[in-house]
Amino acid sequence: MSSKILRGRVLTFVDEPQGADDHSAYRYFEDGAVAIDGGKIVAVGDFNEALKLALPKAEVMDHRPHLIMPGFIDTHIHYPQMQVVGSYAKDLLEWLNTYTFVEEQRFADEAHAARIASVFFDELVRYGTTTAAVYCTVHPQSAEAFFTEADRRKLRMIAGKVMMDRNAPEALLDTPQSSYEDTKHLMEKWNGVGRLNVAITPRFALTSTPEQLEMCQDLARLFPDAYIQTHVNESLGEIAFARELFPNLPDYVGVYEHYGLLGPKTLLGHCIHMQEREIEILYETGSVAVFCPTSNLFIGSGLFDRQRMRDANVRIAVATDIGGGTSYSMLRTLDEGYKVLQLRGQRLSPLESFYMMTLGNARALSLEHTIGTLEAGADADVVVLDARAVPAMAVKMERVETLSEELFLLQTCGDDRVVVETYVAGEAAKAGLSGVA
Ligand SMILES: [Zn+2]
Repeated sequence: MSSKILRGRVLTFVDEPQGADDHSAYRYFEDGAVAIDGGKIVAVGDFNEALKLALPKAEVMDHRPHLIMPGFIDTHIHYPQMQVVGSYAKDLLEWLNTYTFVEEQRFADEAHAARIASVFFDELVRYGTTTAAVYCTVHPQSAEAFFTEADRRKLRMIAGKVMMDRNAPEALLDTPQSSYEDTKHLMEKWNGVGRLNVAITPRFALTSTPEQLEMCQDLARLFPDAYIQTHVNESLGEIAFARELFPNLPDYVGVYEHYGLLGPKTLLGHCIHMQEREIEILYETGSVAVFCPTSNLFIGSGLFDRQRMRDANVRIAVATDIGGGTSYSMLRTLDEGYKVLQLRGQRLSPLESFYMMTLGNARALSLEHTIGTLEAGADADVVVLDARAVPAMAVKMERVETLSEELFLLQTCGDDRVVVETYVAGEAAKAGLSGVA
């Protein structure tokens, strides 16, 4: 691995911004540098200082006047749903049954899974995302294909084989025993290999029997540090069905609580329609509520209440949720998140947005010393952004005076075109991409 210095305008958050003008929450270097060696960041600071500090012989990648930030993090995404994006449906359950549960059956074919995994990583890199928490399908080979390709590309990824043993087509069902054994096998084979982690992934309460949720609990006991990812309280129809299936438990979050699946490594997609008790349980267990704005708007599920979660000190992350979501871009995602919160009468400042897609999501994954930051010792996963990449943005930039204004323009109008380069473990990964193979 080569050593190199990225030169440009460097921005990295050190804490969550408290409001729109909290300049203590980030470090910014106008003529800055990120020094990289062996896939890790070894220094960050002013260009002249960084040069003296480290790597006098390193190659300098001059990205001036662009903005250098930590690679974006997506905390909830389904790689097998690349060909589900933009499917026309009335609501979540119709969308699942009509499109998603049909499409996911194709991942029994390992060659199909391998091809889509490769295209998936191309797209993440194209949009500046360097880490994601990912759902595979029920088929263990879908996870094998995913981890094999992620490892080849040296990406930091979290993923799991979906566990589901009822209320879906026969071809997508496992059993409590097979889901346990397949997940255990994946954990032993892939967890901690390269930069990979395996997540225990019951799809949601609707598609798991009590027997399967007990097996999830056994896995969580066997692998106490493992991530657990699932969905909760996304749509009203889904919630009514969950209440029917588990009539003796107090609420939907109560299902995961009952089976010991909540904790600081638990990622709960959506969390829109929440009872007061459910919010308290998320806080008490340190579980993470994952806000998926493009998905929530597209499927018409509802408006996430960020302020209510913050008031209760619940940990919050943000994610695309492709294929319910409509963009791979964390910029597009936060733009829609901003609009959801506007409709709720809540503010989301540009500093808070860019914190959320970097350090904020890293904290939600308990990886804040490893990703989402440009501090020395972190993985060298970096994105380079150009707010003048398209003419309409370039002309607007003539009127932009502050860093916050630039960030807000990137979020409001940006997509993959503003991503000049994405570095994965210190290597340029976007430059070599072509079209869909
Ligand atoms: Zn999802």
